Amino acid sequence: MTNTPGRGVLFVYSGPSGVGKGTLKEKLFAEFGDRLRYSVSATTRAARPGETDGADYFFISRQEFLHRVANNDFLEYAEFAGNLYGTPRSYVEGLLSAGTNVLLEIEVQGAMQVKRRMPESVSVFVLPPSFEELERRLRGRATETEEKIRERLETARRELECAKDYDYRVVNGADISAAYAELRRIFLAESGEETSHAN
Ligand code: 5GP
Repeated sequence: MTNTPGRGVLFVYSGPSGVGKGTLKEKLFAEFGDRLRYSVSATTRAARPGETDGADYFFISRQEFLHRVANNDFLEYAEFAGNLYGTPRSYVEGLLSAGTNVLLEIEVQGAMQVKRRMPESVSVFVLPPSFEELERRLRGRATETEEKIRERLETARRELECAKDYDYRVVNGADISAAYAELRRIFLAESGEETSHAN
């Protein structure tokens, strides 16, 4: 992906629930937090225990969300599991024009909208080693009802079909450090940081 000089790179990052993408993302920010910014999305879903407004999401009402859609305030938005999620356009565009790299962690429909609008963005999909392994991990959480687990698995199956449309696919198997090494390599290569880190 060639990017305009001086402009930040937009990373679009997706993967099914239970694949470990949160942990990989945390590792990336722990290492590159000084040159990568996370875009906090707006959502209509309720905050989960431990989540903070403005840090995890901007928690807003459906009415407010639709008002922002009408104002063209979102770079992309999508409905997922009955809730709306959207990426604030001005925040992301401001950072990119200022030369800062930005990462969006979004689901597949939104990712495809971003790819259409900003083909120079770099998309990464995190895959489980197999569907059976994803099922095992989701069941391992054991906090959800069978119906919820089935719903998540069905959503995951549909999401996995979209993996082929991403620029990169990273398999998170038994060894998370191998998956992280791959994600890191993609970040360094695509953000043009490679040279400053080579030794
Ligand atoms: P959760 O409710 O578990 O935090 O997120 C559900 C899904 O919505 C995840 O796949 C997450 O990546 C995605 N998501 C979070 N923010 C956005 C957003 O701004 N736009 C889109 N399209 N998806 C989002």
